[in-house]
Amino acid sequence: AFDVLVVGGGPAGAAAAIYAARKGIRTGVAAERFGGQVLDTMAIENFVSVPHTEGPKLAAALENHVREYEVDIMNLQRAVKLVPAQEEAGLHQVHFDSGAVLRSKTVILATGARWREMNVPGEQKYRARGVAYCPHCDGPLYKGKRVAVIGGGNSGVEAAIDLAGVVAHVTLVEFMTELRADAVLQKKLRSLPNVDIITHAQTMEVNGDGSKVTGLTYKDRDTDALKRLDLEGIFVQIGLVPNAEWLQESPVALSQRGEIQVDDRGMTSVPGVFAAGDVTTVPYKQIVIAVGEGAKAALGAFDHLIRH
Ligand code: FAD
Repeated sequence: AFDVLVVGGGPAGAAAAIYAARKGIRTGVAAERFGGQVLDTMAIENFVSVPHTEGPKLAAALENHVREYEVDIMNLQRAVKLVPAQEEAGLHQVHFDSGAVLRSKTVILATGARWREMNVPGEQKYRARGVAYCPHCDGPLYKGKRVAVIGGGNSGVEAAIDLAGVVAHVTLVEFMTELRADAVLQKKLRSLPNVDIITHAQTMEVNGDGSKVTGLTYKDRDTDALKRLDLEGIFVQIGLVPNAEWLQESPVALSQRGEIQVDDRGMTSVPGVFAAGDVTTVPYKQIVIAVGEGAKAALGAFDHLIRH
């Protein structure tokens, strides 16, 4: 059995594994895809102290750093069930789709999240070539350019306000007849001179020239007419889904949005089970934050171990 079993191999899981292993305790990491969302990213310019890197490069660096230590890395393992210890200081079990079951005194859940996609033609083809999901990450790449933000909830309107300060022009596109964001955010958005808002519009296609985005086609839902916006970037803000569905049957408490609730040491509602990164309620989903939270959860787990 492990002392610490980390589920997930993104920035949070990697940091947790390094911090745990440095305590000289038996540490394992099981992940569906080591590297996590970082693998889907091109330019990364906000990982503090690294002015510029690329996703696959950072993912390899995370894995190499973990491999400096005696950590059991189990890649291509998808967790499907968590069975918490029945008694205090007992072993928690994590079940995998391969049929394998791993046991550990503490578990750190770091299964991350995924952006909800529009599922329209061109979205995949132009991902990272004009189609973006993270305004904090990619906003500065569109300085002086025209962008659309898809989604009029809080995250879409926040993104549009944020981007309006960086890019030349923002068009916010909402499917329903009204924006769903908080009134104070809507008011702020409407006060900005370089923002247009289009409601009751369905995104139909990402247009491009073969190498990058050149526009967006949408359907005016009032008239069913197809219309086109000429622009260089599209920020999709229709939701970030935590990878926590597999915990729904477990006693680990999830928020209304399905995120794992953690305390200030990263512990969940189940003693000895910790969580870190995008899968948790901790706001602002970023690599540097996931790394810090992963380190914190590992230290929390170690603290828990020496007391039980
Ligand atoms: P993830 O990176 O999502 O890793 C989750 C891990 O868990 C993966 O290994 C996954 O395979 C595994 N997993 C999931 N479910 C299971 C399961 N059931 N069983 C086992 N393993 C499982 N952030 C920045 O700071 N700067 C940027 O420039 C930036 N750009 C981004 C660009 C894109 C396109 C995307 C999608 C995200 C970007 N982000 C950026 C956000 C950043 O990638 C995330 O905040 C960060 O990766 C979160 O780390 P994490 O470890 O919590 O989760």
